[in-house]
Amino acid sequence: MGRLFGTSGVRGLVGERITPELVMGLGQALASFLGNSGTVVVGKDTRTSSDVLESCLISGLLSGGCDVKRLGVVPTPAVSFAVRNLRAKAGAMITASHNPPEYNGVKLFDGSGMAYTSLLEDRVERIYFGKKWHQVSWDEIGGVEDLDIIPDYIGALAGMVEISKEYKVVVDCGNGAASVVAPRLLRELGCKVVSLNSQPDGLFPGRPLEPSPENLVELCRVVRSTESDLGIAHDGDADRVVIVSEKGSVASGDEVLAIMASNQVAKKGDVIVTTVDASNVVDEVVADVGGKVVRTKVGDVSVAAEINRRGAVFGGEPCGAWIFPSFSMAPEGLLGALKVLELLDASGTKISQQLEPLPDYFMLREKIACPEDRKSKIMAQVSKRLVKEFSEAIGVIKVDGVRVNFLDGWVLVRASGTEPYIRVTAEARTPGRAEEILKATIGALKKMR
Ligand code: MG
Repeated sequence: MGRLFGTSGVRGLVGERITPELVMGLGQALASFLGNSGTVVVGKDTRTSSDVLESCLISGLLSGGCDVKRLGVVPTPAVSFAVRNLRAKAGAMITASHNPPEYNGVKLFDGSGMAYTSLLEDRVERIYFGKKWHQVSWDEIGGVEDLDIIPDYIGALAGMVEISKEYKVVVDCGNGAASVVAPRLLRELGCKVVSLNSQPDGLFPGRPLEPSPENLVELCRVVRSTESDLGIAHDGDADRVVIVSEKGSVASGDEVLAIMASNQVAKKGDVIVTTVDASNVVDEVVADVGGKVVRTKVGDVSVAAEINRRGAVFGGEPCGAWIFPSFSMAPEGLLGALKVLELLDASGTKISQQLEPLPDYFMLREKIACPEDRKSKIMAQVSKRLVKEFSEAIGVIKVDGVRVNFLDGWVLVRASGTEPYIRVTAEARTPGRAEEILKATIGALKKMR
């Protein structure tokens, strides 16, 4: 039996892994999992394959007895919002997030608007692979209704922040789902908006969907040439935000996360959640305001689950997936951008003035080849070997791979989930020390083969 769900829902190449049949079967399995009744909210991103997959998913749900509210093209977090707002039983978003245009997939949300955990996914998967779904009789087939959630969604997001100054911003939607919300939302909050790549287009002519520095050269240029206060970029489904400073350079995801995390700490002892691969700059800045950082597995579902468990005030990943639990348990790229503007407004600063005083950290990454069948054996020994290698280790975190902490840095060793590699990330206060940690770790790993 293969796997249906990966680290972020069902995802793959259209026509290969992602077929109309698969998505219809998923709709049928989900309807059965939900007890062949109730309402499911369905949204999609701007990909060329999203219309056909939307039709298939909806067919599966209807034939399984669920009713459907069809949202059309919306950001992924709008599906989470709609599920809660409409008290629906579940939500489904047709998207492959930042992947290239030939990919697509489906991400599921529960009735609280949180992404399905692997536990729930396993249960849907069992129905799917066992073909154990129930097809309802003709008089129990569900109905579909179109719903424009965007006005309510924009209203709710705008109600989450107070921005008094008029900011000039450039927003780059990458021709993805943010196009239908971000420029309008920012204008409604009084911003002067220059929009880039903000016409929905499934061929994504503007730029690749991953908002990485190399893909945001144009955004940086436009921020500088228009003398804007801020640049904002979203990934294909707008659950992530990346910030460009008024000087026209892409801000480090770790640093912006650190600023936002410390900003969200309202009282001493507040907990914020981040992942094992995030920089220590987060710990340092959050500790300065009396907050506490808890680290979890990589992935927004793990962050959301940990926020729930700890009653945390905020959680986020360096890639720009930020969760504000007072609004939603799903990563919110659009709200993230507004919160950055609110922070600048309240402090009367420019974004570069927030970033420049942050302590310097240097992060290095390397991967070493490791066949699939050796991964678990090697990973089982990593912790012991590294503690032996580094007498200066002050702690080990094993929530996702092995992270060894030092007073002046850390190293993380993780087996890749999709490729035959073991990945090593090292961080320290100086480049030399980061190099030293990385080299020693790779040396120790190589001895283990
Ligand atoms: Mg995304």
